[in-house]
Parts: sequence; structure tokens; C-alpha cells
Amino acid sequence: MKTLQLYQFEPVVTVLGPGRRAAVWVQGCPFRCPGCCAPDSQPDSGGTVITSAQLAQRICDSAMDCLIEGISISGGEPFQQAEGLTEVLNLVHAQHPQLTVMIYSGFALGVLRSFNRPGISGLLQKADVLIDGVFLRDQPTTNPWKGSENQTIHFLTGRIEPADVNRSHRHIELFRREDRLFAAGIPTSFSSRLS
Ligand code: SF4
Repeated sequence: MKTLQLYQFEPVVTVLGPGRRAAVWVQGCPFRCPGCCAPDSQPDSGGTVITSAQLAQRICDSAMDCLIEGISISGGEPFQQAEGLTEVLNLVHAQHPQLTVMIYSGFALGVLRSFNRPGISGLLQKADVLIDGVFLRDQPTTNPWKGSENQTIHFLTGRIEPADVNRSHRHIELFRREDRLFAAGIPTSFSSRLS
């Protein structure tokens, strides 16, 4: 059983893709984008260690309690923890195969495919949608799923379709976690932080 370095988990959000979704943010990102809205997620150390079985159970609990239609995975950089996340998704799909998967990555799809590593291709195979590209703060966008206009939404399976973008609105959701506020979603301005 693999372990993951987890930045944040929310059992249900409505801001990262269509409908109600469990949201996973992993810890660690190599890109260091200026204006990143989650700079605390960039260091490889930090966050909390969780087993793939524990994280899968939290998502399955969300499927039962919160009636989610999918899972959105962001970060941090998900493909740095590709094998652990693949294990999580395999465990979840064994019980809830209907849950769709959206993944955000700073790596372009072509770059991910060129790595030719089983762990990375395994996670790509679990993705219904991949939103790729680093965040560029001088390329603002109104698309509710993208952080900046340079990013591309890849519909990989047909389980999520381009028309589903119209089911989403661009806003943020705030959650209180212990002694801090945590913001989910893509703010329209990256000039200030909320936590
Ligand atoms: S890829 Fe995402 S998480 Fe990583 S630094 Fe850029 S905006 Fe932040």
C-alpha cells in the first residue's frame, strides 16, 4: 500500500469541475508559478501523510454521504504522486465506478505521455479530463475550470463533455480547517491570498 503526501482534502466542493466533487490537493509541486494560489502546497515536505487506502475511504465516504459525482485532483502536482493516486482511484472505482475524475497538472499532456512511465500512464488512464499547463497570471481567463488561458482542457473519455463546462460557475468556496481558512476554486484575482 502506497502513501501520499496530502495538502488538503474536502469531501465536497462545487468549484472544480461539474457538479459536486470530492477534492484532493496533493503536496509538492516543481513549477513554482508566480501568483500560485496555493504556495503552501509547493514544498515536497509538509501536508499530511496518508495511505492510499485511507484516502480512498474518505472519498468513498463522500460518495455515500455527500452524493458526489466525481473527484477532482489538484495540488501541488498530482503526477509527482502518480502511483499513489492511481492506487487511490482504483480502490474508489472498485466501489463507485461511476465517479468521474478530473486532474490538474502543470505538465502538458504530451510531456506526460513522453515520460513513458507506467505510474504516469496509469494515472492518465484514470482521468476523464486533464487540465494541463502551468498557471500564467498574465493570461487571465473566464473559463470556470481553468486558472489561466494558456491551459488546455482535454476531454479524454467522453464521460465528461465540453457542454459540462456550462454547468460550472467561477467562484470560490471557503472552509474553516482548524485555525485557518481554506479556499477552494479559482479566484478571479491572484493578487491576494485568503489564508
Ligand atoms: S502548477 Fe499549480 S500548484 Fe504548481 S506552482 Fe503552478 S499554480 Fe501552483
